[in-house]
Amino acid sequence: MPCYIKEIAVGMKFYVTEYFESLQGEGNFAGSNSLFIRFHFCNLSCIWCDTKYTWLKSSGPYKEYTKTQLTDLIKNNTSSNVVFTGGEPALYKLDELMCDTKKYHVETSGVLLPTEPLNITLRDGTQFKRDAMNEDIIRQFNWVISPKLSNSKQITDIKYLKYWNEKEYCIFKFVINNEKDLLEVDEVVRKFKISKKRVYISLEGITRESQLRPELVDLIIVYGYNFSPRLQILLWGAKKGK
Ligand code: SF4
Repeated sequence: MPCYIKEIAVGMKFYVTEYFESLQGEGNFAGSNSLFIRFHFCNLSCIWCDTKYTWLKSSGPYKEYTKTQLTDLIKNNTSSNVVFTGGEPALYKLDELMCDTKKYHVETSGVLLPTEPLNITLRDGTQFKRDAMNEDIIRQFNWVISPKLSNSKQITDIKYLKYWNEKEYCIFKFVINNEKDLLEVDEVVRKFKISKKRVYISLEGITRESQLRPELVDLIIVYGYNFSPRLQILLWGAKKGK
């Protein structure tokens, strides 16, 4: 039986893989100048994940920040948009980082509900505990929910979509690779009665060619969804820190 070393991430510790300034490449704020903060650790392991270096303790380097250190970093940066990405940012109590002069965006799978307390043990035994976030604060954030389709090879209970559909402060972003994936999106959207106006669809892949598939974008239009480009791939390919 494996012996896991447990680590309790409670209170004000924030584990950050990297931070950088770039353009938001995707979703409803595509093109915005933004500071990206990539949190370390993820509770999922999507097969096509392009940030596997964030998954677990041994997946890659990361640095520990206190709440004050991280809010100072944010305040001292000139970008008015701050994107919390990962990894899975909802492992952390993000309301603690609130800063009135910035617009926060959270890129999350959505399976960890922010307004509920969290106590979760990851695959390597790392344990995360946090209290529920304050909804009056987090409703000011732009939550970008990326539900995982069967192409991610994840088993997630999609009931969490009911939770998010009732939150007016989020949009949904799906990643597809073919028409079959698009049909799956459509099924989920119909099942949870999600407004198509809130749904953005982007294309899987980390090469420019993978993002330039007009035949698939034509179908996205026919189905009535928004298309989300992935400008960072088109501009810089798979370059890290972009
Ligand atoms: S949820 Fe995001 S960071 Fe986590 S494995 Fe999936 S794609 Fe990667």
